[in-house]
Amino acid sequence: MSEVSKAKKTALDLPPMNVVKEAQKLIAIPSVTGKEGRIGEYLHDRFRELGCDTRLIEAAPGRYNVTAFWPGQEMEPGLLFHGHLDTIPVYNMEKPFEPFIRDGHIWGRGSVDQKGGIAAVLSAFRELIAGGKPLRYGVGFVGVIDEESEHRGSMMLESMNIKAKQAIVTEPTGLKVGLGCKGSIPFTVTVKGRASHGCRPWLGVNAVEYGMKIAAELLAEELPVFKPKGLDQVQASLNLGLMNGGVAYNRVPDECELCFDRRLVPGEDQNEIIQQIREMVGRYKQIEGLEISVDIARPDWNWQPIKERGLKPAITNRGEPIVAAVISAHRQVTGQEPLLYFTDGYNEMDFLINDLGIPTVQYGPGDSSLCHTDLEKLDIEQLTGCASVYLRAALDICGGTDGN
Ligand SMILES: [Zn+2]
Repeated sequence: MSEVSKAKKTALDLPPMNVVKEAQKLIAIPSVTGKEGRIGEYLHDRFRELGCDTRLIEAAPGRYNVTAFWPGQEMEPGLLFHGHLDTIPVYNMEKPFEPFIRDGHIWGRGSVDQKGGIAAVLSAFRELIAGGKPLRYGVGFVGVIDEESEHRGSMMLESMNIKAKQAIVTEPTGLKVGLGCKGSIPFTVTVKGRASHGCRPWLGVNAVEYGMKIAAELLAEELPVFKPKGLDQVQASLNLGLMNGGVAYNRVPDECELCFDRRLVPGEDQNEIIQQIREMVGRYKQIEGLEISVDIARPDWNWQPIKERGLKPAITNRGEPIVAAVISAHRQVTGQEPLLYFTDGYNEMDFLINDLGIPTVQYGPGDSSLCHTDLEKLDIEQLTGCASVYLRAALDICGGTDGN
């Protein structure tokens, strides 16, 4: 399954690296989810050229997680950068894999989500290694597949024995500092009733009517609010995204499907929530002719392990060294105080915090509102700034003698 290749551990006479060109190279290698093979190999080679210990690990057939490590004096890695290698599909984007520069931005699929972040990591590694300063702790990178779908790359992190004192998820934040993310449960309620002619509805059991009642009851439920220390409060949420049912106006529908998206705040648990929903809909099962089931389901999820684990909420304590290191590096690079926040979205800091126990912040270049759109473009100023912030944070956490 895996191939291990080791490289030199001494500082090299490295060629200069232009982080903008590096981002363009990464964008030019298509890596839509399921087809991350080439970009994995490319990154493996790039980090090896810099002198890192690198590994290419087959996480799914032909799809590789990549790790790179630059050692310090101690065995334990100090800082780990995490990024995902896959992008969403092209959709209607023009020139998705021919990145061009316009208005101070690099345009292309994956520019924001999240090849800019990975280019910034490469650049930080290059500067760190070329600087030649001995580190107390090593610096690592892990690039994972499948973030946009079943999270097969990050699901493997535990078995890859990934360790670090602190971590940065390099997903775009517009250079804000993300301290936490919500979890997510995609679930479907399937209601089965009994069909009859629409002129005699009393002979049937109307699945759409019961589906509406169940939806109304679920949506009326009060959901928890989480108050992270020093940040705006965060609200758990439930969205009814899709409702299917019925075939004709004059027929009592015998099936109705409701697809929900439940977002969790810290302290909430997938199994408990699904259990509560099953208990709630269980009351309707007493109605003769009505059957109801609740399942974790998403159109692109066929893999049982991710349904069972779920996508958990996560938060890092503000007092962790990584928070101070990123704030301080951001301040030095931009001259401004960064904004700290808890995102309504989900990201894979979940796996680092909940599975590996590594305090993690999310910090990366690009406007996250452009993710998953056909206007995806990466702000070049943020990209270059981010590379400097990563370098300083790494020196700070890993004990370089000079963070400037
Ligand atoms: Zn992403």
